[in-house]
Amino acid sequence: SIETFYRDSWVEIRLDAIKENMKQLQKTLDDKTGIYAVVKANAYGHGDVQVAQAALESGAYGLAVSLLDEALILREAGVEAPILVMGWVRPEDAPVAVKYNITLTAFQTEWVESVKNQSYEGALSLHLKWDSGMGRIGVRTKEELHELLLSCQDEKIQIDGIFTHFATADELDLSYFHKQQERFEILLEEFNRHWNEDVEIHTGNSAASMRFPEKMHHVVRFGISMYGLYPSTDVKALEPIPLQPAFSLHSKLIHVKKLPKGESISYGATYTTSSEEWIGTVPLGYADGWIRKLQGMEVLVEGKRMPIVGRICMDQFMVRLDQPYPVGTKVTLIGKQMDQEITIDEIADYLDTINYEIPCMISYRVPRIYV
Ligand code: PLP
Repeated sequence: SIETFYRDSWVEIRLDAIKENMKQLQKTLDDKTGIYAVVKANAYGHGDVQVAQAALESGAYGLAVSLLDEALILREAGVEAPILVMGWVRPEDAPVAVKYNITLTAFQTEWVESVKNQSYEGALSLHLKWDSGMGRIGVRTKEELHELLLSCQDEKIQIDGIFTHFATADELDLSYFHKQQERFEILLEEFNRHWNEDVEIHTGNSAASMRFPEKMHHVVRFGISMYGLYPSTDVKALEPIPLQPAFSLHSKLIHVKKLPKGESISYGATYTTSSEEWIGTVPLGYADGWIRKLQGMEVLVEGKRMPIVGRICMDQFMVRLDQPYPVGTKVTLIGKQMDQEITIDEIADYLDTINYEIPCMISYRVPRIYV
């Protein structure tokens, strides 16, 4: 994250909200269930190291990321907790994982064979991934599982866990979720017949863990809910666990002017004033992740909603103001001002996407400030 900055746009991250969300989520689980805080993709745009530390301080057992690179950033920052890389890592990079005590995900026999040919001391910690219906990565059949387990019977390999991922746990219709659960249980029976060492079992993302806390095995993987967002509006309605968003986005007016009727704004002159209008310029654009499709969306100024007019540029956009405001007036793009709030869910609806995508798309150019 950027330590010193000279621009008037910033993201505020409330670490206390993340800690409080962790507490609320923990309350729904039984005492023995551990939590992996999912901090991949720079902690969904919130800042990996800061969120990891906050989650661990509030009792998370470990951290889950997608890439080996993301795990190394955490280790280099001094994080000592267990770290699981949930994505595919090149077998030739396994020695790096061993050196930094990072757990990798395995599901291909050829991959395990290739890892065993690498040179490293000790054993590589692995979680086996089972594809119970996500169709992404993982072992699908008993035969594949047998082969994989045979390959894992080696002093260079240590199986520490097994997991799967649900595709529809956030939906009202649970039939596909139950089918995935059944498939997982069938593979688990088979696994237990052939493997008698203890392993960590985990299946639940936020949606599954919030809805079926009693069905979770040893650990759950909390991502979106830890950040104070709900996996879907259905889960929000069904499981009203009080969560607080940690992420807000702000900027300041850097220019304010009065335009006569009939003047146009920005590239393509797509907006023309219909009367005398006050127009403000905000120093944030699509290179910051405030994409051109957000034209027409509103921002908050002094607790009032003002529309974005004209095309969003790479580094700036314009808003129509109801009256003149001084340069330096705060503009809130995501978050609260007085009794008004623009939520991440509202932005996601406007863009016809999911809330997960919104904090992820705010680019590295926007400094994250921790409050
Ligand atoms: N587990 C895996 C394998 C994932 O890919 C993800 C995120 O997509 C999560 C857990 C966390 O999911 P959520 O953010 O819905 O809690």
